[in-house]
Amino acid sequence: MSGRKREYNIVLLGALGVGKSALTVKYITKRFIMEYDPYIEDVYTKHEDVDGQEFVVNVMDTYEKDDMNSQRYLRWADAFMVVYSITARSSFDTAKEYITKVSEYLKNASKDCPIALVGNKCDLERYRQISKADGQTLACEYDGLFYECTAAEEYEYVEGIFHGLVHAIQLQRGER
Ligand code: GDP
Ligand code: MG
Repeated sequence: MSGRKREYNIVLLGALGVGKSALTVKYITKRFIMEYDPYIEDVYTKHEDVDGQEFVVNVMDTYEKDDMNSQRYLRWADAFMVVYSITARSSFDTAKEYITKVSEYLKNASKDCPIALVGNKCDLERYRQISKADGQTLACEYDGLFYECTAAEEYEYVEGIFHGLVHAIQLQRGER
């Protein structure tokens, strides 16, 4: 596969307000921006050069919407990041619904995509409602990766989650 850079499409899913846009912007720009239009859906592209390996990551930042659109992002994705906030139990329930929906789709489509379950806002430890163990258990049930993070602090960790998914896609495609 010489010449063309490898491309990886990652879709972020999760309840409104969990930090999908904050994580996307953090990964793309290394900055934490406090407020975004919650109804923005967009694809952001980042050209990466990691250890001499060049690739392109396309990140689709979504918000909850109807099934018509969801078919489109389900087909487009190479990997999914399902985000909840560790401070909101309802967002964990929504994450469960997304993870179930994505797994069913993948099964029916005979497609195999890595899924990462991400508990965001872990800088707000004192408001925690979801234990790390609960997150790990859910991710494990679906054979997914699991991370807790914060979009508000260091960039390297957020970058590591995106790169973790890229790595998982590469393993699946036999590129590694
Ligand atoms: P989205 O609806 O999932 O895209 O959520 P946003 O990215 O728009 O974030 C919703 C709100 O949570 C905004 O006010 C963000 O500033 C805030 N937020 C996002 N991530 C974090 C985080 O890791 N820690 C804290 N403290 N606030 C966050
Ligand atoms: Mg958003």
